[in-house]
Amino acid sequence: MVNLSRTTLRGFAAVGALAGFAAMALPNAQAAQTSSTNTTAAVASTPPVDSTAKVMSPPPAGDLLTTKSSLTNVVRYNRLYKTGAITPSKCKEVNVSLRTSAGVQAYVSQLDRCIYAAWALPLKQAGAAYKVAPKLIFTTSYKVNSPCGLDTTGRAFMCAAGGKSYIYFPVTPVINYWKQNPTFARAYASFTIAHEYGHHVQWLTGILNASWQRQYGFSTSAAQLEESRRRELQASCLGTAVLGSNKRYYPWSGGLMTQLNNVVSNSGDQPGYPRDHGSLKNHAFWSTMGFNAKHSYTVAGNCNTFNASSAYVA
Ligand SMILES: [Zn+2]
Repeated sequence: MVNLSRTTLRGFAAVGALAGFAAMALPNAQAAQTSSTNTTAAVASTPPVDSTAKVMSPPPAGDLLTTKSSLTNVVRYNRLYKTGAITPSKCKEVNVSLRTSAGVQAYVSQLDRCIYAAWALPLKQAGAAYKVAPKLIFTTSYKVNSPCGLDTTGRAFMCAAGGKSYIYFPVTPVINYWKQNPTFARAYASFTIAHEYGHHVQWLTGILNASWQRQYGFSTSAAQLEESRRRELQASCLGTAVLGSNKRYYPWSGGLMTQLNNVVSNSGDQPGYPRDHGSLKNHAFWSTMGFNAKHSYTVAGNCNTFNASSAYVA
């Protein structure tokens, strides 16, 4: 299927790098609630939680995985959208300080395992290789060498290469947010790993590769960026769907829920940077779609950004 050249991938890294550095400050609404000791200049919003997912390898074969269909069929009518409730992992939140790298790693590693368990059944129903887990790698540097090339954004990213997938998770943003507001940091860390795992789900179901191929087929930058936004907004929707599936067991209420809403409604493309992740408004829309799919359970089927009109993926 998709076999991307190194040249192209260097291109991705360059795009990611452009979008990379932005002030690390809580959104305005949140900054106002924090103590007066917060001297960081507030910005109206935060950049997307990750740089664009990169792919150099097709997914492993699943029992019923369809990748030979047309690209549009793979992204728009994927079996993933017909799958049932995402399984509540029943995981409790790890009670650990996110002030240190070790704390962030313990917190995110547990969530990663819980999210793996939660997606197993829907991925099996989708015919994907549901037992394949991503490799989670914590980073502390702005320069990350991955099998998909160099990433210099300082943000999380997912990379699929050599038949495996990798999630690169920078600990520094979470530690820095923790200093400003621990509850925001917990929500940010949870959302980020869930979003990255969303890309892994896209990869296993063939969506990620098909979407990149579609993107290369478009002749205008505007169409290519729209395709990127469909992919990223879907990853956020799948992320909040898996978080929401566990809402009876995880404290997704009160302060933590407020901060999750804060994260998703303030994260998105920033003025002057590539429009590759989606507007704040649409990011909030799809994140809410994922989390609130049903009253008692969540489904991947609510995350079909590839069947949405352009306005919803602007
Ligand atoms: Zn992403």
